[in-house]
Amino acid sequence: MIAFTASSLYTPIERVEQPLLLVEDHVFVEVSSRVARPIPQGIRIVDFGDAILAPGFVDIHIHGGAGHDVMDADASALCAVEQLLFKHGVTSYFPTTVTAPLDQTWSALDRLANAIESAARDNGSRRERAQPLGIHLEGPFLSHVRRGAHPPENLLLPTLQGFDRFWQAARGHIRVMTIAPELEGAREVIAEAAQRGVCVSIGHSDADLNSARAAVAAGARHATHGFNAMRPLDHREPGIVGEMLTDARLSADIIADGIHLDPAIVELFLKAKGPDAAVLITDAISATGMPDGRYRLGTFEVEVKNGRCEVGGKLAGSVLTMDRAVRNVMQFAHWDLQQALRLATINPARVAGLSDRGRLEAGAEADFVVLNRAGEVRSTIVRGEVSEAVGQS
Ligand SMILES: [Zn+2]
Repeated sequence: MIAFTASSLYTPIERVEQPLLLVEDHVFVEVSSRVARPIPQGIRIVDFGDAILAPGFVDIHIHGGAGHDVMDADASALCAVEQLLFKHGVTSYFPTTVTAPLDQTWSALDRLANAIESAARDNGSRRERAQPLGIHLEGPFLSHVRRGAHPPENLLLPTLQGFDRFWQAARGHIRVMTIAPELEGAREVIAEAAQRGVCVSIGHSDADLNSARAAVAAGARHATHGFNAMRPLDHREPGIVGEMLTDARLSADIIADGIHLDPAIVELFLKAKGPDAAVLITDAISATGMPDGRYRLGTFEVEVKNGRCEVGGKLAGSVLTMDRAVRNVMQFAHWDLQQALRLATINPARVAGLSDRGRLEAGAEADFVVLNRAGEVRSTIVRGEVSEAVGQS
């Protein structure tokens, strides 16, 4: 058993002073306070001093980082992405595909399924890496009108057979799927995917209010990168954005990098969705953690200049990291660290259907971040694994 302690802890719903985290076999066995009980005798104690402990971040929408795309055939790609995520406090992630030719999508899904299964079987070789827990299928069931950077020649109308072919290629590891609900055939596919436990997320969509509502009735429960690649809000036709902002059954995510949305829109979104239903994503691409230049996103090339990722004048993902997104929410919307942390931990875990991540409680996987008061990452711990040097000062 190992005991971890620091100055305070966010579960993230509750705040605990002088926290005591007891970890055994990669899982939290107790989350309490040193004020309430003594540290058990004879076990290793790792003291993070004046730091704050919080759940490891969960990113449900990420395409790559450190020069690599999650659809790359190269076996070392995911390892590099996972090490970068780890440095930024992310302990669980959902590698996200972009629209591509079918054979390339199927083989990417197969490789990602292999990575998810081998990470789950791991017994200690995967140190200092975020863990892939499922796949986010972004495309090809997207609107031509709101496709963003997704290649138009590879977009498809949703069909049950098409969805099932992706499902088989991914061996059931699809956990999130972005779909434009106004497309012919979308409602049947939404219902079937929801039935299989997928979080169906509406996005890349030109839907009016009625089709967005019909998608929720069919089983959709989330919205992808709010405002971006959506029909804009109109006061007489609120459209998909109106549905996202007003329906309490829908959670929704945003890219809070200061480029995709004006800070005032971040504030508006957070007022509408509140601390329970708002989620942060990075939508990060291979250029994340790299200098400006030309990088791949799926099968196409993206130009990155001063933090903007563009293809033919359209935004194509970001170079945002999750720790930065949390700090941006504090700055843009004047939320405190504890509230902002919910959007990167328990909320995305709920969206992805994870009950043992995104929270610090007995029984949960021992994934957590060590932060300073400004929300900067000092250490990341995956499955309770710490090197001998950590916390010894
Ligand atoms: Zn997108």
